[in-house]
Amino acid sequence: MKRGLLIILSGPSGVGKGTVRKILMQYLFLNLAYSISMTTRKPRAGEEEGVDYFFVSKEKFLEAIHNHLLLEHAKFVNNYYGTPKEYVEYLRDQGKNVILEIETRGARQVMENYKGDGLVTIFLVPPSLEELEKRIRGRRTESDEIVKERLEKAKQEIELKKLYDFVVMNDTPNQAAERIAQILKDKEQCI
Ligand code: 5GP
Repeated sequence: MKRGLLIILSGPSGVGKGTVRKILMQYLFLNLAYSISMTTRKPRAGEEEGVDYFFVSKEKFLEAIHNHLLLEHAKFVNNYYGTPKEYVEYLRDQGKNVILEIETRGARQVMENYKGDGLVTIFLVPPSLEELEKRIRGRRTESDEIVKERLEKAKQEIELKKLYDFVVMNDTPNQAAERIAQILKDKEQCI
């Protein structure tokens, strides 16, 4: 069986990666599977264990790093985030195209370690920084201080878009998903 692609979807906090990814997952012909990350962040209202994230303690997270269970990991605004490795490998071996929704530091680790191994990297950008701020504030889940930190981080992250294979504008989630679907279709044909 053909091994599945490893797809990185990055982009600043609040750009709408989750929304775009959920639309993409509905295109069944893309044969996508989502890699659920591990985090030390507390769940937001409506987030579910094992669906949005595996919510763990810092001790448990550090233990996972120590035991080499993570494909990549990073600290982002005071919390740890990482991708459990075994499940990703299993899904790819089953022919699934696995999508990682991760920030730029983790993405760089994957770029170094999986170059040439069916890797496709996509960076989602907002139409403007003003629009991004509106989206983060509109979420109403973070304190003012955290919003500011996330915006500062967003500016740094956007600088790194040049490292990615594709930069896609998220003007509307449906259009962004459509563009990404086309990228993945083209990629599948040439592999
Ligand atoms: P949030 O707290 O908004 O859910 O996530 C913060 C940032 O961490 C987002 O950019 C999100 O994509 C990223 N993130 C989520 N899971 C992972 C992961 O497993 N690894 C890395 N490196 N970043 C992640």
